[in-house]
Amino acid sequence: MTAATRGSRGEPGGGALAAERLPPDEVLAALGVDAASGLPSAEVRARVGRWGPNALRSLPPVPAWRKLLAQFADPLVLLLVAAAVVSAGVWLREELHEGRSGLPFEALAILAIVLLNAAMGYVQEARAEQAIAALRRMSAARARVIRDGTRLEVPATDLVPGDIIRLEEGDAIPADARLIEASALRTTEAALTGESVPVPKDTAPLAGGTDAAAGLAGRRNMVFSGTAVSTGRGLAVVTATGMRTELGRIAGMLEQTTDETTPLQAALARLGRRLGIAVVAIAAAMTTTLVLVEEVRTVPALLDVLILAVALAVAAVPEGLPAIVTAALSLGVLRMARRRAIVRRLAAVETLGSADVIASDKTGTLTRNEMTVRTVVTASGRVALDRADGAPAGSDQDERLRSEVDEALLAGFLANDAVLQPHEGGWTVQGDPTEGALLVAARDAGLDAETVGRRFVRVAEIPFSSERRRMSTVHREAGEDGRRLVAMKGAPDVVLSRCSRERVGRQDRPLMPERRHAILAATAALAGAGLRTLGLAQRRMPEDAPPDGCVEQDLVFLGLVGMSDPPRPEAREAVARARAAGIRPVMITGDDPRTAAAIAAELGILGDGSAVTGAQLAAMSPEELDEAVRTVSVYARVDPADKLRIVRALQRNGLVVAMTGDGVNDAPALKAADIGIAMGLTGTDVSREAADIVLADDNFATIVAAVEEGRAIFSNIRKFLRYLLSSNLGEVATVAFGVVLAPVLGLSLGTGEVVLPLLATQILWINFVSDGAPALALAVDPVDPAVMTRPPRPRDEGVLTGSMWWSIGFVGVVTASSSLFVLDACLPGGLVAGTGTLRYAQTMTFTTLVLSQLYNVLNARSADASAFDGLFRNRWLWGAILLSLLLQVAVVYTPILQQGFSTVSLSAGDWLFCGAAASAVPVLEELRKAVVRAMRRGAPGC
Ligand code: ATP
Repeated sequence: MTAATRGSRGEPGGGALAAERLPPDEVLAALGVDAASGLPSAEVRARVGRWGPNALRSLPPVPAWRKLLAQFADPLVLLLVAAAVVSAGVWLREELHEGRSGLPFEALAILAIVLLNAAMGYVQEARAEQAIAALRRMSAARARVIRDGTRLEVPATDLVPGDIIRLEEGDAIPADARLIEASALRTTEAALTGESVPVPKDTAPLAGGTDAAAGLAGRRNMVFSGTAVSTGRGLAVVTATGMRTELGRIAGMLEQTTDETTPLQAALARLGRRLGIAVVAIAAAMTTTLVLVEEVRTVPALLDVLILAVALAVAAVPEGLPAIVTAALSLGVLRMARRRAIVRRLAAVETLGSADVIASDKTGTLTRNEMTVRTVVTASGRVALDRADGAPAGSDQDERLRSEVDEALLAGFLANDAVLQPHEGGWTVQGDPTEGALLVAARDAGLDAETVGRRFVRVAEIPFSSERRRMSTVHREAGEDGRRLVAMKGAPDVVLSRCSRERVGRQDRPLMPERRHAILAATAALAGAGLRTLGLAQRRMPEDAPPDGCVEQDLVFLGLVGMSDPPRPEAREAVARARAAGIRPVMITGDDPRTAAAIAAELGILGDGSAVTGAQLAAMSPEELDEAVRTVSVYARVDPADKLRIVRALQRNGLVVAMTGDGVNDAPALKAADIGIAMGLTGTDVSREAADIVLADDNFATIVAAVEEGRAIFSNIRKFLRYLLSSNLGEVATVAFGVVLAPVLGLSLGTGEVVLPLLATQILWINFVSDGAPALALAVDPVDPAVMTRPPRPRDEGVLTGSMWWSIGFVGVVTASSSLFVLDACLPGGLVAGTGTLRYAQTMTFTTLVLSQLYNVLNARSADASAFDGLFRNRWLWGAILLSLLLQVAVVYTPILQQGFSTVSLSAGDWLFCGAAASAVPVLEELRKAVVRAMRRGAPGC
């Protein structure tokens, strides 16, 4: 390292190597790198060892014990803790006054469940966090570097000081770097300096005196980590990475943990709180009634009532629910990742299921982004390019046409930032496929890249942007006394508007209005055939011509190219699937309206409408726009600002909008959309940061797959909600009605004591042990193909609809009725006289409830379809049912569990009796569903 790299702030390789005061070549020399070939890989490895990864230190993670403790901050858990305390109190009193010995099983069981529940919640939360963090890493920023003479993309964390990085519009700047080249480069440095206006950048060294005063904002030849390129392009050498960057200095540490609660989780938390309030109210009402009616006066009788309150509390609380919801969401996120949709925000999983409109870019998402130049049209005619023989087709092309085509392709070659790189015996395009196609066409027409490169040295460029729709480069021509050649390519109408002459043979002629019309007509013909069209132009200027502003004027029009970009084969089917699911696919593109309409028609997006252009949108009043977006499915020649207007107009119509975007200026529209979708392959870092979902393959079909998964996840969540809540309701009803109807059922012992039909420990067992595995299995129920035949779920439709409550209530009441029937039949007296002991009757009631639930899990898979539909599709579910059954056998027969859960051994006949009573649930549910189906045949369900 030379003195320069030690830097004024004494940190070798740090951001302070005073690189801003040195000319680029000295900075490069100081960092030991050549700008053209970059660092050799061996040197990169050495530097990684020395400087470490290019990452900011993150805050120490929240300690596990605090996360675990947070699990207890839930009113329902506190209710259970209170129940455990009451139960322990009752046990203690019995110990002291009645001398009964033994362990406080109930209190211990409640506490064990509370602890287990917290542990499960903690594990699920941690897994969900890890899944999202891993997915975020997959969509994290990458850096374009030059190493070993090759252009590469590497994770931004792999950068080392001395790396040569290429910067393009929309890139997040991955490290602090000194610019070596800058072309119309502006960066947004708001994150560092608070300045929201993009800052222009150049390469000139700062004068010594100004440096001290310049501060960060004044270092115009440096770019800083944490900022982004808003326009233009540049080449820079990394001067500082990781904590040694300005961002590292300022931020010190970066908060990385994200605590995200989705609307669904919030809704369930609300539901939990309401359940808590309801149970406290029911318990209070029942205890007061009992105290008054039964004239409970003695302390033991009062304690009985308290035990009842405990039982009711545990019956109503769906203990495992939050953990299962988290598990369902995180599993869903992983499933989506497998289908190449990377979720960055958990809430998007839910919103996806409600999407009414998918507004998608055309190029690359609906089409393959594999551009091939098919036709070149010039003043003297038209040439079809046939790449098979490497030359323009038609041997009788006259010399004039040939020279026009060559000039046009030369302009396309020069106004170009893509590179053809040798790859496995063939060539691959690095850069924009549109530009790559022009390179390929020029090469096939016999243009030799090296010769042209020696002859024309690029001295300036005005980059392409979606707003400008053109790109120009300025070249010094060797041996022409420093004369400049300007090459321009862009949308034909835009290029034409900048031209005053036209190339005919080797001469330039003024562009007459009829020729302009003819060129526009030729453009229309190409676009009508679905080809992407570009106009090409050039201009020669003297060396001393004024820079920039005038460059893009008074050009010579050279010709048009038409490129094909075939639709993705899977897009057509995906469009049809989206339509069947009640989702309207919409195409929003910067391309020509005729090209857009041709491709949209091929994909089935256009319908009977036509494409609306950005100019037409601009002429509409807000009301007209709101009206138009209801029917228009193709928008063409729009820029990113139009996208934002379209999203807002769709949303004003009450529609839930998923929108794709890739450019830096798409970020506002991505943020405004209900689901912002960015491109993983071709998207800019800025758009990815703004998005909720990143498509790993940029493919429209992936969006539809993600919608399907989103709907499936939601439908699974509803399944286990139906399952668990009907279980809770069945338990509450069994306990409440059991106590209220005690004399009718033979449950009253005639001593004035309150006798419970079911013990709190048994209820806990059901909620946590026997319901747990089946509920989890419902969370992974395979995607039901029918989810894509229904319209989107209304955004304001809660997770539990009115009809779901009805079916939960129905199952709850049937479960309680059959359990209480079994109770009555086992006890002497009551409606059906039996001969069993209380403990035996409770065991039978307990077992009936468990078996009812095991039947119910099959019903819960659908609101209105029969349980027999796809009965064996989920093998996890059958495994879970078997497991729960074995556990029930264990709790009934194992002595230690018998003691803990107050059970007695049952005979085979007892099991059959319980099973028969419990079968009321599936039988009546099937009947109810049949009635529902008959009543609303064809209407949507879940
Ligand atoms: P989409 O918005 O669906 O991705 P698109 O790629 O056609 O479609 P833009 O990138 O905004 O949209 O391009 C708009 C127009 O600008 C294109 O139709 C083309 O005529 C022109 N164009 C595209 N790429 C370039 C480029 N690299 N250089 C010059 N002009 C271009």
